[in-house]
Amino acid sequence: MMYLWNYVDGTLKEASDGGWFPVHEPATGEVYAMAPDSRAEDIDAAIEAALSAFSAWSTSAAAERSRLMHRIADLMQTRLEDFAQAESRDTGKPVWLARMIDIPRAIDNFRFFAGAILHSSSEAHQTDTIALNYTLRQPIGIAGCISPWNLPLYLFTWKIAPALAAGNCVVAKPSEITPATASLFAEICMEARLPAGVLNIVHGSGENVGAAITTHPDIAAVSFTGGTATGATIARNAAPLFKKLSLELGGKNAALVFADCDFEETVETVVGSAFSNQGEVCLCSSRIFIERPLYERFRDAFVERVRELTVGDPLDDSTRQGALISPQHMEKVLSYIALAREEGGRILCGGERVQLEGRCAGGAFFSPTVIEGLPYNCRTNQEEIFGPVATLLPFDSEAEVLTMANATRYGLAASVWTSNLTRAHRVAAALQAGIVWVNCWMLRDLRTPFGGMKQSGVGREGGWEALHFFTEAKNVCIKL
Ligand code: NAD
Repeated sequence: MMYLWNYVDGTLKEASDGGWFPVHEPATGEVYAMAPDSRAEDIDAAIEAALSAFSAWSTSAAAERSRLMHRIADLMQTRLEDFAQAESRDTGKPVWLARMIDIPRAIDNFRFFAGAILHSSSEAHQTDTIALNYTLRQPIGIAGCISPWNLPLYLFTWKIAPALAAGNCVVAKPSEITPATASLFAEICMEARLPAGVLNIVHGSGENVGAAITTHPDIAAVSFTGGTATGATIARNAAPLFKKLSLELGGKNAALVFADCDFEETVETVVGSAFSNQGEVCLCSSRIFIERPLYERFRDAFVERVRELTVGDPLDDSTRQGALISPQHMEKVLSYIALAREEGGRILCGGERVQLEGRCAGGAFFSPTVIEGLPYNCRTNQEEIFGPVATLLPFDSEAEVLTMANATRYGLAASVWTSNLTRAHRVAAALQAGIVWVNCWMLRDLRTPFGGMKQSGVGREGGWEALHFFTEAKNVCIKL
């Protein structure tokens, strides 16, 4: 049995009351590790350590913070394979995916903000000949970072890196479902000699540890990624304390496929956009709208490709679909398949649990599922399933598809597939989504604003947006 530890004040610690919780491997269903079941007292200790470290860290040279962050990235690079194996075991995602995307991206997050802080600048405003104003962007204090289970290290570092680069100290909580890579990351920070207390990682449940972060008066800002319902609870808890809040929440993303798209490329990329990471990416397309003249041809090619996605052991390089995160999550996905049937949907492929043999006999595997025949406003097309389930819907006009695509409470991401440039611009502007990809999906530039509209979130992360979130803007006005 492996033991994971909290990282508080520069040292590895167990929970203050000695409690542990089990960590499961989704591909086998077995418990393989124990993690500290921390409490509010552990958050108090982490905040105390962060407050002690803040004065030195917030006034250290940006070049020094940058150097340390690059050192952390270098050390992660040397242990990339360990991270990839740990991420795959914790989440059920194919290890090749963790090796190719999750871990390199986590390293990039550190490198990107290590570079960005050296290039940041602030504004000056001259008021005629009367005064000169300039904006100081100062570290905000102690930042709380809370992340979900689907892209564990990728999203954990996406928050921690800008917070540290901007000169804040951090108290961070990874998802209790996937604590492994955050624990490895703590080892890297120790090896890189990050000063004690600058970053503190506390494991535990949302109820105990997450809530303690969001209600603590000494946490100045909370960056949260997770479900919309949790986001609402956090907003309720944090609002009376006037914390700065960044909320990256759920999605129900649309792909809009016009008849003039590049057919082969569109089919291939939209399959990837629906089923990457078993559909457990907040940006996955779950509603695929297809212009009617192309509908049947697209549907048939799409389903054929989806049937080729091999469900298997995440350790096997030929696996395209690993395990879902847990048996409970698989039950949720199954309940949506039953709902889709009730709502009149036809299951074109998938729709059931996959029983593997041997090592993975106890794993939560599910066949990638395509459904047609559902109205755009039914529950299956409105609620986030967060699994390998995509629905296909025909449309007749641009106006109609925009109405249907925008008719959800979410507004995270969308993709548009067309060779008509004018239409691409027009549709991108009309979509209610924080991110619109045209003829691509998940093409990311870390300088761009990232986040959702409506109930997909509040605020933006990435690039200057993140550095602005983690700093307090102060205007200094000098009379000339
Ligand atoms: P979740 O909301 O259940 O948990 C996310 C984190 O919040 C976990 O660390 C959890 O312990 C913590 N938490 C739970 N209750 C809390 C509370 N009361 N106070 C403080 N923290 C609390 O989400 P999940 O199931 O881990 O992740 C899946 C969800 O995340 C999906 O809805 C998905 O769309 C969303 N997501 C969004 C983005 C984005 O960028 N918008 C990215 C990835 C995932």
